[in-house]
Amino acid sequence: MAKCSVEVQNIVRGMLQSGLVEEVLAFVSGLHESDIVPQFIADVKDIERIVTLSYYPCSLAKLVAEYGEMGKKIGMVARSCDVRAAVELAKRQQINLDNLYVIGIECYGVVTTGDSKGKVYVFPEEMEIDGKRKPLDRDAIAPHCLRCEYPIATMADVNCRIESDEGCSVTANTDKGKTILAAAKISVQEGPQSDVSKVKERALNQQAAEFNELKNMNPKERLNYWLAQFDKCIKCYGCRNACPICYCKDCYLGPDKALVQRGGLPPERIFHIGRLLHIGDSCVDCGQCETTCPMGIPVSKLYHMLYKELSPIFDYEAGFDLESLPPVSTISTKDLTNTGVCFD
Ligand code: SF4
Repeated sequence: MAKCSVEVQNIVRGMLQSGLVEEVLAFVSGLHESDIVPQFIADVKDIERIVTLSYYPCSLAKLVAEYGEMGKKIGMVARSCDVRAAVELAKRQQINLDNLYVIGIECYGVVTTGDSKGKVYVFPEEMEIDGKRKPLDRDAIAPHCLRCEYPIATMADVNCRIESDEGCSVTANTDKGKTILAAAKISVQEGPQSDVSKVKERALNQQAAEFNELKNMNPKERLNYWLAQFDKCIKCYGCRNACPICYCKDCYLGPDKALVQRGGLPPERIFHIGRLLHIGDSCVDCGQCETTCPMGIPVSKLYHMLYKELSPIFDYEAGFDLESLPPVSTISTKDLTNTGVCFD
């Protein structure tokens, strides 16, 4: 087992044994070692199965919201997009951040579980597969990860920077983080933050390359491009079910609701337009929708692109400031008029 996981395992052990939390949600190796699955760990004997490899098969924030109890103290070992999703869910009263103890894992991209049978770590410019370093293979990285500007989960209580299969360095971001490290008997380090300037530059270049291709179309061409994509949809609801920001228990886009009927293909376009309206202002670009889609529809590109348009207009960054509310929940007709979105 990789030493960096051992360090994370020690933190989780300290949290559970000290009673700081009742359980910790993390990815663990499944029955087959190549399986990476989520598990709420309450029994310390399961701690050794925790992995911090560069896989991200589902959103842990969504699982905390669905299965975690608000009054229960829970730990979560998660990556930046998942921590930002947790912040968005907290704003929507789906997660109690006071009771959530977050161990953030620096993430420079993930590969899909099916892409590799080995132990894979992705670093800013290299990868490590079964202990061997090689240059970063961009084709092996999930497309949304190449667009990601936020490899560090700055909202997490503790930050773990994986340096190799041989180790990681740990720092506390918050007072809760100091409590976590004290419980694990790890001396608090205030170490320098990782320099992410090159990763951010890579992300902005990738966004420009992907988005400009669409922005350079005229509006009719762009609309036709997306309508053609929507017509491929088989209404499996995979994207909705995988999305951490989609939290409604009674979804108005569900089958047999007024807007979307059961069966019938191609699907009602309101399905996609409704989802865009609902999450476009708060998408954390975790990519779970696109990874899930059996029809290869680039849904995360659509949501991310819309989010990047809306973010500067409403001065809203999803997943950072708990006090800053999503535009959809606060917007007034005056705001829409002032921003040119609608007219009197
Ligand atoms: Fe449609 Fe793909 Fe979403 Fe399934 S996952 S509902 S096919 S867009």
